[in-house]
Amino acid sequence: MITQKQKILVVDDEKSNLDLIYELLKKDYTIIFAKSGTQAVERAITQSPDLILLDIHMPEITGFDTMKIFKNNERTKDIPVIFLTETLDNVTEEQGLLLGAVDYIFKPFNAAVVKIKIHNHLQLLNKMKILEKIALLDGLTEIPNRRSFSERYNLEINRAFRNKSPISLAIIDIDSFKQYNDNYGHFMGDVVLKMIASTIKTNLKRATDFTARIGGEEFALLLPDTASDGAIQLAQEIRLAIYALHIEHSYSKVSNNLTVSIGGISFIPTSKNQSDEYFKLSDLQLYEAKNKGKNQVSWKNL
Ligand SMILES: [Mg+2]
Repeated sequence: MITQKQKILVVDDEKSNLDLIYELLKKDYTIIFAKSGTQAVERAITQSPDLILLDIHMPEITGFDTMKIFKNNERTKDIPVIFLTETLDNVTEEQGLLLGAVDYIFKPFNAAVVKIKIHNHLQLLNKMKILEKIALLDGLTEIPNRRSFSERYNLEINRAFRNKSPISLAIIDIDSFKQYNDNYGHFMGDVVLKMIASTIKTNLKRATDFTARIGGEEFALLLPDTASDGAIQLAQEIRLAIYALHIEHSYSKVSNNLTVSIGGISFIPTSKNQSDEYFKLSDLQLYEAKNKGKNQVSWKNL
């Protein structure tokens, strides 16, 4: 997973300190420098380092003030910061921690301590990133889960609202899945869920198309910048691709193959805060598809 070197931004007004840190860390990390708070903010935003080493005592903007800027910027607020300092009294130590610093490194630098502290913090960061990733994935199918969907959905609705661009939302539901589980067993049911998840995923066209497992046998499909024509076509392709898996389902009243029903809507959001309403409308279309005999797509262009 980690093929690239992690990136560290080192901020210090004294070149000799930058040189020292560079010599210590250049082998294991990509190092970028800044010689002032202003430069640090600019580089942190454009380069997205994994960790920032920030000198407290600098002319113009101090380390603490630079830190405040980091914490107020969406792009930089989550990057861990270690303060660099010669001395530290209790009050200053407390202030720095309250600002959100994860640690302190003292000058003159103790090479071993510098390396160990940085290694430890970056390892912790890696573990956190892995956990965050896992928290957004469905454990069985390994596609995004409901929580992940909610985040993406709200983001995309807001974006579509701002850009006045069309967006399509669909719910895909496996037909007679209870009968499938009851007759073929939950192990086979799980196998089917995995097959369907991967079939939906492989049929997506664009990098921005998004699918998630949002319930037991329910999947969501989110298609930014997609109006109804393209969305309906994709929904039909997914429905047919799932049918073409030829998963035997002798207890379905619709077909001998396992099938899905899809309900969807296409719209240009008229408000930022109506994501729940739109979701309900999509659910209503799913209900229509089920009502009309399942194994079909029901769509509404709002
Ligand atoms: Mg200094």
